[in-house]
Amino acid sequence: MSVPETFVDVILPVPLPRLFTYSVPSDMADIPEPGIRVVVPFGKKKQYSGIIFSVHKNKPKDYETKPILSVLESSPIVTAAQLNFWEWMAEYYQCTLGEVYKAALPSGLKLESETRVYYNPDYIQLDNLPEKTTKTLLFLSEKKVCTIQEINTFLGQKSSMPLLHKLMEEGAVFVSERLKENYKAKTENHLRISEVFRTETKLHEAFNLLEKAPRQLNLLMTLIQKTGGAGNALKGKSIARKDLLEENSSATAALNELIKKEIFEQFSREVGRLDRSEDEIQQKNTFSPAQQKAYEEIEKSFNNQTVVLFHGVTSSGKTEIYIHLIEEHLSRGEQVLYLLPEIALTTQITTRLKRHFGNKLGIYHSKFSSEERVEVYRDLLENQNYKVILGVRSSIFLPFHNLGLVIVDEEHEHSFKQFDPAPRYHARDAGIMLAIKHNAKVLLGTATPAIESYYNAQKGKYALVELKTRHEDIQLPRILVADTREARRKKQMKSHFTPLLLEHIQQSLDNKQQVILFQNRRGFSPFLECSVCSWVPKCNYCDVSMTYHKKMNQLVCHYCGHTVTTPSTCNACGSPSLSTQGFGTEKIEEEIKLMFPGARVSRMDLDTTRSKKSYQKIISDFEDGKVDILIGTQMITKGLDFDNVSVVGILNADNMLNIPDFRAFERGFQMMAQVSGRAGRKNKQGTVVLQTSSPDHPIIGYVVENDYQTMYRTQIEERQLYKYPPYYRLINLTLRHKNKGIVEKAADELAARLRAIFGERVLGPQEPPVARVQNLYLTRIILKFEKGHAPSYVKQLMNDATNAILSQPQWKYITIQTDVDPL
Ligand code: ADP
Ligand code: ZN
Ligand code: ZN
Repeated sequence: MSVPETFVDVILPVPLPRLFTYSVPSDMADIPEPGIRVVVPFGKKKQYSGIIFSVHKNKPKDYETKPILSVLESSPIVTAAQLNFWEWMAEYYQCTLGEVYKAALPSGLKLESETRVYYNPDYIQLDNLPEKTTKTLLFLSEKKVCTIQEINTFLGQKSSMPLLHKLMEEGAVFVSERLKENYKAKTENHLRISEVFRTETKLHEAFNLLEKAPRQLNLLMTLIQKTGGAGNALKGKSIARKDLLEENSSATAALNELIKKEIFEQFSREVGRLDRSEDEIQQKNTFSPAQQKAYEEIEKSFNNQTVVLFHGVTSSGKTEIYIHLIEEHLSRGEQVLYLLPEIALTTQITTRLKRHFGNKLGIYHSKFSSEERVEVYRDLLENQNYKVILGVRSSIFLPFHNLGLVIVDEEHEHSFKQFDPAPRYHARDAGIMLAIKHNAKVLLGTATPAIESYYNAQKGKYALVELKTRHEDIQLPRILVADTREARRKKQMKSHFTPLLLEHIQQSLDNKQQVILFQNRRGFSPFLECSVCSWVPKCNYCDVSMTYHKKMNQLVCHYCGHTVTTPSTCNACGSPSLSTQGFGTEKIEEEIKLMFPGARVSRMDLDTTRSKKSYQKIISDFEDGKVDILIGTQMITKGLDFDNVSVVGILNADNMLNIPDFRAFERGFQMMAQVSGRAGRKNKQGTVVLQTSSPDHPIIGYVVENDYQTMYRTQIEERQLYKYPPYYRLINLTLRHKNKGIVEKAADELAARLRAIFGERVLGPQEPPVARVQNLYLTRIILKFEKGHAPSYVKQLMNDATNAILSQPQWKYITIQTDVDPL
């Protein structure tokens, strides 16, 4: 009787809707199971590593299956719970499992294919070959095998493919693709006394031998001392090379001698990359009565509810409460995920959490190297040393085993949403789903809840816990509105500053206190304009004006990154009178430095925080009082906790409120309330100077009064009236193509098809505010579904409609992007 063949469905990193079925060779030793990585052939030549999604006996009817080539591990690298979560995500956010796989696994665990070049030892070299070829052959015969990269570097040229093709024809080399694992364990050179010298007599001998070599003798003694004495050293205890040489790097030569004499032995040892140093664990603070009450309410709410929205004013001690909650869950043996919207925030929170949770705390975000991320991932998968994971949105993909609590700090933040590429998920919402699947609890914390979350709390879907007083009853900052139009009329403006703001900055500096200035635009000025003919430089590839960056003397497109040198004359009329319009953080920095020459000024925006360390440096310099005035974009609005800030200046409230988006007012309120919250922490009440040309704007009023409720009421009414979230669920379909006519036509037809199914729920097509990006024309169809229409239900119908468009030859090159719950 023949055993039925086994098949596996494999998730591959390709944006194709279906999973691929492969057969399992009957002689394959390892029995595959879901979550294990396999290498499979794909197309004519390619190989991919993918994840087994399911194992079954159903032979596909319509195609011949190919066998899997190899199985990469014996136990799953993706757990069943993760696969289940991936499935939900692909379904809800309308993308493929392959796209989720790409987002979910740290790149170090995805194999990349690499071309390797092998030298043929039997090759007999011909005479009179070109010099370059001879050189290359020599190089190859020494190396035996190498990558194309290495040959390129050796030859100092971009591509060595033409040359390699010739060599392949000659039979001198052959080339093969193979998958390489990106993750390399980090190793460190270690030293110990070599085997032969590990007896007291031999050690004595060594000392005699080194009598005339004081440096070597010194190293030997250092090794003995640093390994904790002769006893240890004789047992073969080692120390890191860098620790041995720490005090005098000039001892390298002496060390080499010792190795040569075979007194020392050097070997490499695998080390973890992550800092596991055991810091002193601090006791947690005791709560104030208000905090105690909030904490108890949260605990009680968790008895019958999964999600609690914790609305606590800035500096009320939300983080303190998180720390107590984490401790509580750890004591029950559960894991905790602490989500933050941005890496910028992790620095301060890390320090605070480390003090309490020491090396139980794992950190996971993109400024960590791929290797470091793999180590966190593997730890959760295998050892579970980490109990608390602090991370940004991608940490929802980690392999949790016993998740008890998810904290979403600053839950209102838009950076929880992934914009590109798919899956375009919202980490708060996905985090709630993750928690539900693990039977865990969710705490959404914020001083300015998202309208959607507050609505859910009003409806009883979430519990609501409030904390309305700041720690130690310090008052919320006083907010002064500075009318820029009035000041302009009276000719009192100094560039972009009202006298009121300048006065307060000066006062703060005089009192040796600090100032934060907030401008929600980076760069020097949003655009240049010719004062003769009004010409504005625009990006060649996008329909937007380019931002002027003065220090680099460049115009930069903030959509595609295209950069040009700033023109000295107008491209239209030739006049040299190009002037800057509007202002960004760079310009504020320049002007502040001129106006307050004695002040130490620093700037935090996307341009100054490209590296992992730069955030940390800017923040710690400000914390340490090395900087008096910190200028920044929305990056400085969130969660940062400074002790000595007495004044916060909001330079231009108008540009936040004048955005054509139904969320603009909510967002404007949140940003202003959040940045205001940075003022007057710890010792006393702070002051906020809010510059605006429309001081009567209702949102400005709510900010001044710190009146979240009224803001919420006015906004939720509009949402209902105009059919927006949370009453309706939006799905955006964005079509792109390099030809405007083609993309419009396809969009019209797609909209018509969708209307035939969904009727009035389909809006558009219409051009988005920026209708051309990277030389592609964009058009958008918006679908509005009543709550209750699950995206998974409409997914199939929408897919059918988009496939009907994409399968037409003239529209083959159109791309259609789906964004569920767009922000
Ligand atoms: P939030 O997260 O609401 O902004 P934090 O937890 O950061 O508030 O608290 C603000 C400041 O007050 C922090 O410096 C914190 O250490 C301090 N703080 C809050 N509650 C306590 C407490 N119970 N005991 C001591 N310090 C506290
Ligand atoms: Zn001009
Ligand atoms: Zn551009």
